[in-house]
Amino acid sequence: MSSLQSEVERRGEEIFTLVDQHPESLFSKAGFYQRMMALSMRDEHFKVQMFRFVDVLASLRRGGEIVRHLDEYFEDTRNGFSPLIRTGVQLAKVVPWVSGQVLRWNVSGMARQFIAGKNARDVMKTLRKRRAQGIGFTVDLLGEAVVSEQEATEYAVRCMDLLEHLVRETEGWKDPLGDGEDLFPVVNLSVKISALYSQMNPADPADAIVHLGGKLRPILRRARELGAFVNFDMESYAHKNTTLELFKMLFSEPEFLHWPHVGIVIQAYLRDAEEDLWNLIDWGRTRGTRFAVRLVKGAYWDYEKIKSRQNGWAVPVYLQKPESDANFEGLSRILLENESIVTAAFGSHNVRSIAHAQALADELGIDRSRFEFQLLYGMAGPIKRALVQMGYRVREYCPGGELLPGMSYLVRRLLENTSNEGFLRAKFSENVSAEELLRDPDELVDQGSNGAEDLEIQTQDRHVGNGASLATPPGDTYENAPLVNFVHRESRESMRTALREVRSQVGKKYPLVIDGKRIWMDKTIASINPSSPDQVVGYLCEAGIPEAERAVTAARSAFEHWSRTPFEKRAQLLERVASIMHRRRFELSALEVFEVGKQWAEADGDVREAMDFCLFYAQQMRLRGRPRLTQHVLGEESYQHYWPRGVALVVAPWNFPIAIMCGMVSAAIVTGNTVIMKPAEQSAVCGFMLMEIFEEAGILPGVLNFLPGKGSVIGAHLVDHKDVDLIAFTGSREVGLRIWESAGKTREGQRELKRVICEMGGKNAVIIDSDADLDEAIVDTIYSAFGYQGQKCSACSRLIVLEENYGRVMERLLSAAASLRVGNPEQPGITIGPVIDETAYNRIREYIEVGKNEATLAYQKGDIPEKGYFIPPTIFTRVNPNARIACEEIFGPVLSVIKVQDLDEAIAVANNTDFALTAGFFSRSPANIERAKAEIVAGNVYINRSCTGAVVGRHPFGGFKMSGGGTKAGGEDYLLNFMVPRVVTENIMRHGFAPEETPLYRDEFRGPKR
Ligand SMILES: Cc1cc2nc3c(=O)[nH]c(=O)nc-3n(C[C@H](O)[C@H](O)[C@H](O)COP(=O)(O)OP(=O)(O)OC[C@H]3O[C@@H](n4cnc5c(N)ncnc54)[C@H](O)[C@@H]3O)c2cc1C
Repeated sequence: MSSLQSEVERRGEEIFTLVDQHPESLFSKAGFYQRMMALSMRDEHFKVQMFRFVDVLASLRRGGEIVRHLDEYFEDTRNGFSPLIRTGVQLAKVVPWVSGQVLRWNVSGMARQFIAGKNARDVMKTLRKRRAQGIGFTVDLLGEAVVSEQEATEYAVRCMDLLEHLVRETEGWKDPLGDGEDLFPVVNLSVKISALYSQMNPADPADAIVHLGGKLRPILRRARELGAFVNFDMESYAHKNTTLELFKMLFSEPEFLHWPHVGIVIQAYLRDAEEDLWNLIDWGRTRGTRFAVRLVKGAYWDYEKIKSRQNGWAVPVYLQKPESDANFEGLSRILLENESIVTAAFGSHNVRSIAHAQALADELGIDRSRFEFQLLYGMAGPIKRALVQMGYRVREYCPGGELLPGMSYLVRRLLENTSNEGFLRAKFSENVSAEELLRDPDELVDQGSNGAEDLEIQTQDRHVGNGASLATPPGDTYENAPLVNFVHRESRESMRTALREVRSQVGKKYPLVIDGKRIWMDKTIASINPSSPDQVVGYLCEAGIPEAERAVTAARSAFEHWSRTPFEKRAQLLERVASIMHRRRFELSALEVFEVGKQWAEADGDVREAMDFCLFYAQQMRLRGRPRLTQHVLGEESYQHYWPRGVALVVAPWNFPIAIMCGMVSAAIVTGNTVIMKPAEQSAVCGFMLMEIFEEAGILPGVLNFLPGKGSVIGAHLVDHKDVDLIAFTGSREVGLRIWESAGKTREGQRELKRVICEMGGKNAVIIDSDADLDEAIVDTIYSAFGYQGQKCSACSRLIVLEENYGRVMERLLSAAASLRVGNPEQPGITIGPVIDETAYNRIREYIEVGKNEATLAYQKGDIPEKGYFIPPTIFTRVNPNARIACEEIFGPVLSVIKVQDLDEAIAVANNTDFALTAGFFSRSPANIERAKAEIVAGNVYINRSCTGAVVGRHPFGGFKMSGGGTKAGGEDYLLNFMVPRVVTENIMRHGFAPEETPLYRDEFRGPKR
């Protein structure tokens, strides 16, 4: 055994001996909390329900409401809840007022265990007690998620007040160790960076740094004057690089250059942590002044894992707990070895991690007065006491604030205390032996089954397994294409380069493509940059009727062979398209920024969706392509399979210029149809790019034809054409209904009944229930209503708010809207860009005038760019559900807010529309959530999340009523719309004899030569 390991064990055992002298369970207060935690550790389902109940409790005002929620969360004894709990719930129902108070009191007690005080005065009481125990402090202000600049400014003011208060009240306090005040001032403030700026966007760290710097400088200046210490806490990975850059920038400024009392957090669960720490140390050496690092493992492990898996990103955290522990130890060494420039604070409750830092410090000859241990308020009291007894410096992290904003902090602590992997549970609840707890984490890392590596492989080579199994659901065998993560500098640089390149290409002329040939016309359509209407992104040759006829002839003739091309080849073509898109994704995104005014992440989401359509439909075709036995029956075999329909006309909108076009085209092509694609005039350059990509992927002449032109001319002509068999349309209700009607007529010489796949608009509603989590509801509603300027067919245009919550919702919603960044989306981090063109601009402005007569204009952002088709985010209140602005599709950044009395009325209003596309519901009541799931009439109903942003395979997308014909793009049955089913039955009995075995699948029946 190494000498370090034996020293770690010796130290660890010493701590354990001291801890055991003052036995205290993990739960230092008896009663409700103790019983709850014990149950939570025994029963996972109880834990989930209990923590959710705790989460909603603080927002409930009436006793009856509290008991109703309790009843809903613990309704089902069959779910494993003990009869005792049920009895408690029944009793509570008898006297709701009293029980509500008792419950609230108990949960408040639990919160008080982790929150040092609800205001500065209460916090001081705690700090005085700790002082008597020889423990220092750092105070953190709890707050709601900051959704507006008003809230961010309030947080900055509270920080400043707290600072002044702490300094005043601790006058005359000395360093608990009596040695080291130069490194460790008595007053220590921990600051949450995200609470100081509401518009932090990973794509635009520079903007965040400017705003955060402005808010922080006065606080830092005052802290330095007062001799206090300021620490930047670290939050989610999305903000990590910005926080590090901000720290380095601010403390390189002449004003703060020589100030040593500043610190930042490094999270050892991050794979980047070591690189970040070295960067900080190098920076510190160049700066020439000490600074501090609080080393922790990290508080957002589950969140980071879930978020990155959802977006297809490499998971930034280690996936095995001992990896985080081992990294913590490696980083401890780096910190201590660089003690000459960085002051170390070890933020951990894990005795192994603590003992390791102690042993290492001794090995390196670093005096214990030169570093400190930090632990959280309300946790691991015996360990703090032991460390003080051993003569170490201990600082307690003391959150202060109200119960409601403190709930998410409380739930994080509850999760940490009950985590299967956590040290505290192992030591204090499960009595794991000291020997086991002090093992070297490096030995515990399972080198063989490193989930981390597996995940990395999946993100790079994720499509290999697609379609591998016929037995599993499509979503499970399908791995989505990843989004670009603009947190990474390389991604931002690639986007900037692409923007420069696309800018240098604007104004080019683009041809039609018919039968594989480029056709140049004199007449062109100009595609305009809506942010800058004097810039023509491209001139598209305009097809007339003769070109439309040529395209039909080419598509008809290509159908002869394409319909008979094996589906495997067709699927491979789509996969090649997806991989070319992957290679060119920044270029495509940049083009969308110029041509349709999408902001960076929206444009990238569109390209990702296009790739997903190709890959998903390729998989789906493999699942559907072979004739499949309908039933096992002796003496006969029947196979169902599909043939393509013929020539497809694809008419696409401009709002998802590559994704929707590509989705419809790829579905038609992979099923064996040939296609004439007509892009929207406003996004025709994007359409040409798609054509070019299909060409590069090897599409044969005539299979895909590119035909920009006027909808009223070639669109109408092709819809009525006898040789067009299928029309896939996404766009307005007006045009969709015309197509539907016209396609219903059979023309002279027409062979097939025309199939129309029609996806139209929506008047989508979001309901905010009286107990909703407003931190989420506000952010998601703002995104749903104003993301891409409200020009998504899924966008929220009616917000329905229950009366009880109305005041608070509106206060936060209006200030959140006021904080949005409106501007040219070429700049990263812009949330609101221009609307698509002058016609849209004028129409939306007319609706705003209508709204002014029908309702109250509650908010309209001023300060928007003068040039370009910019419409400010606009919110109307007191909207009558039957008003025009509440019924008609506006397709712009205009939100109508409707106040209702209760959920019955809310659902009735939501459903009272011609459309049925998307809907959203925010609530923490299990019963109300069940009602919304069952009763809201929409094709896609989203609970507690935004109502936009469907992901292929995960959220098959499309509506009914006047929103569409009920098809689901990105769903497993979408391709069926592009094919005709056929069944071939053969009597295989000969003279009373038939084979016993019939294969489940047969080779393709390739279809006739037509
Ligand atoms: C004073 C103080 C300040 C803090 N400030 C911050 C801060 O600013 N930002 C922040 O993010 N955290 C912060 N934390 C850390 C966080 O809140 C947890 O308290 C800490 O991670 C728990 O670690 P531990 O060493 O006490 O316990 P342990 O039980 O040894 O470790 C638990 C931790 O291990 C990690 N983990 C759990 N499961 C896995 C797994 N399967 N694979 C890999 N890793 C896993 C997680 O980080 C988890 O929190 C702070 C902690 C303290 C004590």
